[in-house]
Amino acid sequence: MQTLNVIIPCYNEALVIRKTYERLSSLLKTMDDIESTITFIDDGSRDETPCILREIGGADASVGIICFSRNFGHQAAVTAGINHCTSDMAVIIDADLQDPPEIIPDLIRCKEEQDANVVYCVRGTREGEGLFKRLSASLFYRLLNALAEVKFPVDTGDFRLIDAHVIREFNRLRERGKYIRGLISWVGFKQVPFYYKRHARFAGETKYPLKRMVKFAMTALLYFSKKPLKIALALGIFAVLLGLLLGCWYLSGKLFGFTRAESGFTSTMILIIFFGGVQLLAIGALGEYIGVLFDEIKGRPEYIIKDMINLNQ
Ligand code: UDP
Ligand code: MG
Repeated sequence: MQTLNVIIPCYNEALVIRKTYERLSSLLKTMDDIESTITFIDDGSRDETPCILREIGGADASVGIICFSRNFGHQAAVTAGINHCTSDMAVIIDADLQDPPEIIPDLIRCKEEQDANVVYCVRGTREGEGLFKRLSASLFYRLLNALAEVKFPVDTGDFRLIDAHVIREFNRLRERGKYIRGLISWVGFKQVPFYYKRHARFAGETKYPLKRMVKFAMTALLYFSKKPLKIALALGIFAVLLGLLLGCWYLSGKLFGFTRAESGFTSTMILIIFFGGVQLLAIGALGEYIGVLFDEIKGRPEYIIKDMINLNQ
C-alpha cells in the first residue's frame, strides 16, 4: 500500500488547528487505498497551539508532532516536515484551511494519471485576501521569473504533492535559506499544475505581514538570481562610459574654446547625486549577497527541535 504524509506548518494557529485536524483526518480515513500520516510542525507558537497538538498526538498515533525551540519561520517548518518524511509521497499544506484538504485525492489522481513527481497547486482565484496582497504577490512572481535563472510557475504557493524522488533530492540540498517552492521547481522531474480555488482563512490572521513578505521575496531573489549584481555592473559600465564622453566633451570644449564656461552648479549636483546613488545601490546589492554568504557560512542549523511526538529522531 502507498503511504502519504501530510505536512502542516503551524504558528499561532490555535483558532483553527483542531478544525484542520478534523477535516483532514476524516478525509484521510475515506482514502482506504492509502496509508496516511500527518505531521504538524509547531514553529514556536506562543498561543495554545502546542498544547492542542500534544492532545491530538496523544489521541492519534498517526499524527506526528515536531515542536521547535522558537519561531524559525514557515519555510524552516516545512523543511523539518520534509526532512522527517519517510512516506512515498507528501502533501505540504497550510494550517489555516485556505487550501482545501479535500482536493488531496485529486492531487494523487493527477499524479498517477500523468505519471508526475510533483503536482503543484495553482491559485485560480483567491478569496479573503486584499487587493494589495493579490497584486503584490502577482507582481512578485512575475518579477522573480524575469530575474531568476530557473523558471517558476506563477501564483503557486507551497501547497503541493511531492513524491519520494523529490523528497530525497530536497533532503540533499545544503542551503539554509530556503525558498521551498523555488527549490522544488529547481529539483526537476515531471511537475504538473493543478488549478484550484483558494479560500479565505478559516480563522486567525495572516502570519505574513508586509515585513515578512519582503524578507521572503528577498530570500527568493537572492538565492535564485545573480541578476541584481549584473544590473549593478551594467549601471557601472554606463556611468563610466557617460563619464568618459562628458569628460571628452568638456575637455575639448575648454581646449578648443567651443563651450563657454558656465557656473555648472545644477549639472554637477545632478551628476553627484545620481552617481552617488548608483554606487550606493551597487554596494547595497553586493552587501545583500555578502549577507547571504555570511549566513550560509556560519552553518547554523535551519531549525532546532525541542521535542517530537509519535516520530523517530
Ligand atoms: N507559519 C509558520 N511559521 C511562521 C509563519 C507562518 O509555520 O513563522 C505557517 C502558518 O501557521 C500557516 C502557513 O505557515 O500554516 C502560512 O502562513 P499564513 O497563512 O499566515 O500565510 P498567508 O496564507 O497569509 O500567506
Ligand atoms: Mg494562509
